[in-house]
Amino acid sequence: MGAASSDPQAPTGPLKGRGLVAELPWVRRWRSLVAGIGGPVSGLERCWGARRRAQPQRCPGEQLPRLAEKVASEWPIPQFVSLFLPEFPVRPPVGQQELKILGFVAKGSFGTVLKVLDCGQEKVFAVKVVPKGEVLRRDTLKQCKEEVSIQRQVSHPFVHCLGDSWQGQRHLFIMCTYCSTGDLYSLWAAAGRLTEASIRLFAAELVLVLGYLHDLGIMHRDVKMENILLDERGHVKLTDFGLSRHLRRGERASTICGTLQYMAPEVLSGGPYSHSADWWSLGVLLFTLAAGQFPVPPERDHLAMLASVNRCSYESPGCLSRGLSLLLSELLCRNPLRRPRYLHHFESHLFFRGVSFDAELLQKQPVPCVVAARQAEATALGPSGAFADFDCDLLASLSRPWPD
Ligand code: ADP
Ligand code: MG
Repeated sequence: MGAASSDPQAPTGPLKGRGLVAELPWVRRWRSLVAGIGGPVSGLERCWGARRRAQPQRCPGEQLPRLAEKVASEWPIPQFVSLFLPEFPVRPPVGQQELKILGFVAKGSFGTVLKVLDCGQEKVFAVKVVPKGEVLRRDTLKQCKEEVSIQRQVSHPFVHCLGDSWQGQRHLFIMCTYCSTGDLYSLWAAAGRLTEASIRLFAAELVLVLGYLHDLGIMHRDVKMENILLDERGHVKLTDFGLSRHLRRGERASTICGTLQYMAPEVLSGGPYSHSADWWSLGVLLFTLAAGQFPVPPERDHLAMLASVNRCSYESPGCLSRGLSLLLSELLCRNPLRRPRYLHHFESHLFFRGVSFDAELLQKQPVPCVVAARQAEATALGPSGAFADFDCDLLASLSRPWPD
C-alpha cells in the first residue's frame, strides 16, 4: 500500500494529510498529551483494543467503564473530546453496546474497517475505526471532520451514505451499511479486465455521482477503485470522503493530495486545479478496468509521477471500441478545460449510446461482471460443496479469536 509502491497492481494509498494543515500550537500540545494517554476505553473500543493487544492486558480494564462515564460527564469537556465535536458526538450511539464484531474488512490508510452486527437492528454494518492520536499526529483533524460532514450532507443512490459517527476515549467511529460485494479494486483484481458492457454501466453511474457532487460544490479528490464499493447487486457506492473538500464551481484548489496514480497533472504540479481533476481520475480508473493495468506505473513521489504522466501517450489498447478509446482520450486530456465535465457531454457520447443517465433505471440493470462472478462461484461450490465449506469456515473461525 502507498503511493510509492513498486507493484503496479497493488492498491495505492492516498497522500492523506501530508502537509495539508500547518501545525497549530494546540495540535502540538495535544500531540504530546495523546502520547501519554492511558485512560479508559469503552464499548466497541474495549473490544477492539482487547483483540489487537496481547491477552494479559485485560485486567486493568476492570474499572474502565466507570472512568469513561466520569470523563464524558465532566465539565468542561476535556479538549481531547471536544476537538472532535460536533461531528463525532460522545453519546454512546443507540445500541453501541450491542455491536458485535464479525470480522476485519480492510486496513485503510487511516484506520481499520470492521464488519459488525447491530444486534438490536439485526443488520450488518461496516465501521471505520480511526485512532484519535493518529488524527492529531498527522494534523488531519479538519479533514477528518470534513469527511463526516460531507458524507452527512450528500444523499445519492450511488454515494455510500453515513449511518452514524461517534467518538470513544481513543477512537473515532464512522459507521455505514456494509457492502457485501466489496470494492471495485477486488473485483478488477480477480477479473483482470472488465468487459465494455460492465465498464459502461460503472462509468455511467460514476458520471452521475461526480456530476451530483460537483453541482453540490464538493470535489472528491480520491476517486479510485478502492473507494468504490459495490452494493449487493453490484452497483456503485462511492465512499471515502477523507480528502474531499468544498469547492464551488469556478473556485480553485492547490493542495497536492490524492492517490499518485490517479492524480491529474495539474494536481501533481501543485495547482491551481478544480473539479476537472476528478474527471481525470475517472479516466485513469476506466483505462485500468479496460486495459487490465494502469496507464502509468506508480512512482516514488509526485514529481517523479508528474514526469511519467507527462511522458505517457495514454494510448488505449487496440482491442477497445472506438467509443471507449475516444472517451478515455477525452478524460485523460492534459488540459483540464478540454475534459468533458457536464452531464450533456456524456449523454451525447458515442460510448454511451443507448444509455439512460437515470439512477433508478441504471440500478435496475444487472451488472454483467458481478453476475458472471456469482455464477462462477456457484458452479465452483457445486450442490454438495456448500455444506462442506460452511463447516470448514466455522471450524476455522472457532479456532481463531480474531478473523484475518
Ligand atoms: P481509508 O480512508 O482508510 O481508505 P475507506 O473508507 O476507503 O478508508 O475504507 C478502506 C477499505 O475498506 C475500502 O477500500 C473497502 O475495501 C473497505 N470498506 C470500507 N467501507 C466498507 C463498507 N461499508 N462495506 C464493505 N467494505 C468497506
Ligand atoms: Mg479509501
